[in-house]
Amino acid sequence: MKDTFRKPIKLGVTGGIGSGKTTICRIFTVMGIPVFSADIVASLVMESDQELRENLNQLAGKDLYQGGALDRQELAKIIFSDREMLLRVNSLVHPVVFSHYLEWAGRQETPYSVMEAAILFESGASELVDMILTVVTPVQERIGRIVKGKKLTEEQVMERIKNQIDDESRIKRSDFVVYNSENDMVIPVILEIHEKLVKLYNSTF
Ligand code: ATP
Repeated sequence: MKDTFRKPIKLGVTGGIGSGKTTICRIFTVMGIPVFSADIVASLVMESDQELRENLNQLAGKDLYQGGALDRQELAKIIFSDREMLLRVNSLVHPVVFSHYLEWAGRQETPYSVMEAAILFESGASELVDMILTVVTPVQERIGRIVKGKKLTEEQVMERIKNQIDDESRIKRSDFVVYNSENDMVIPVILEIHEKLVKLYNSTF
């Protein structure tokens, strides 16, 4: 946890692919806590931010927006076959997302707000938040969930896992860890974290 922070507290929620970040964030939403999804906003700004569109085209060396919208399959082909390219695309997209996030977080009036980000640490977004919650689920269970949802094949999930840091590294840098295997009771754990954050907010100001 950072030594100093301004209110409201900014909580980052992260975890490996398929760990259940979005599911956990829904519980925060139900409790009235605003949630900013870095992944959704990244996806939106790649469509709406003209300067970013131009920078992405320049990097790819071709028009990625031939049909008007971003050709995501083409982008995925480029970034998942070339790690250097992935880093360069990220370095174009992340600053745009961060500026939207900071502007959004500054407008929130609840004791804390949440940013959900799959690559919170890898992107540097961890520097923008005051506290961090990591969602942990065993890799095999995560693969099973994603494959079952027919989002990706097992090989594609493994490829993405390789591009992310592991749970041990995430846990070391987190203030809260939520275990989200099928039989874990997550709601009481989230409620406890919620109460802690509200208390911290009330005691700090
Ligand atoms: P991604 O990295 O793809 O964004 P995520 O970490 O946000 O994934 P979710 O989308 O919340 O993960 O969950 C992935 C899938 O696993 C969803 O189908 C969700 O319904 C399911 N799931 C989440 N938590 C549990 C759980 N505790 N038990 C069983 N299934 C779960």
